[in-house]
Amino acid sequence: MVETLSSVLGQDRALDLLRRYLSSGSVPQALLFAGEEGIGKEKAAKAFVGALLCRKPGGDGACGACHDCRLLASGAHPNFLSIAPETQFLRIDEIRALQEELSLKAFSDRPRAAILCPADRMTPQAANALLKTLEEPPPETHLLLVAHRVAGMMPTIVSRCQRVPFLPLPAGTVEGILSGRPDAGSEYPAAVIRLAAAVSGGSPGRALTLLPGLSDEREAWVSLLSKLSPRAAVDLAERWKGEGDAAGRLAAPLSLLRDLALLSSGGGAAIMNEDLRELLTAVSGQPPAGGWNAAFRALLTISRMPPQPQKRLMLEAFFFGLREKG
Ligand SMILES: [Zn+2]
Repeated sequence: MVETLSSVLGQDRALDLLRRYLSSGSVPQALLFAGEEGIGKEKAAKAFVGALLCRKPGGDGACGACHDCRLLASGAHPNFLSIAPETQFLRIDEIRALQEELSLKAFSDRPRAAILCPADRMTPQAANALLKTLEEPPPETHLLLVAHRVAGMMPTIVSRCQRVPFLPLPAGTVEGILSGRPDAGSEYPAAVIRLAAAVSGGSPGRALTLLPGLSDEREAWVSLLSKLSPRAAVDLAERWKGEGDAAGRLAAPLSLLRDLALLSSGGGAAIMNEDLRELLTAVSGQPPAGGWNAAFRALLTISRMPPQPQKRLMLEAFFFGLREKG
């Protein structure tokens, strides 16, 4: 299937720009799809290539039915090249192979397009070689550079490209995108999806990678909070040993403690972990010393500390403090 432009969600500014290029018939030869990882840049680049190669493109890009669309969908369109690093960085031989291919006569009368992704991971030699192609691109050829971190790129490369800006999405949009995906919406409870969306920095791609960890984390904390046993606290403390302070790791326990604080004060109409309501209602009746609201505030304070060894010690103290019953 060829991607359509409207399959890229929440990036209206970038899509408007791409649609303007297509409708005006004047498409820059070097484009830089720039923005956070996981927000739709590569998908948009593929949809744009589809529109360039299609014989009957419409407002949404490729028609999906013509000979060129079918060729592209099967991965065999001779005018489309996809360049991805075989190792950590794109190397000069990979750029030279691209240049060699572009120097040959095109097989089809359609324009030629190459997607380089990620274009921000390139050796200096590769970048210098690519610069030559960007300075004098072969006719009817479009180079689409997809970059997560433009700051790490050679400024001369960036300045040769027309930038297509991709922005982080609002959490609600990320949540909607995840909910609609079979590998997320049907696999995880709504509360976990909402958490992942909230801590994803506006990136559906990142939210997807956070889902399994957040789900495990929530389970471990539910176990600690419902048993409040020394064993559960030790287990949880173990999980944090030697690990970095991964982004949003405390999001799951914060949401659980907030729900417990709400339930214990009679304000549980809008809890986040709706799927655990029964269990949390029971747990809310057995508060630690100081009550659930104080526990929530204490964890909130810890979560706002910068990553440092002391933070882990405070977390451990927090785990063990929870079992002192109020
Ligand atoms: Zn078509």
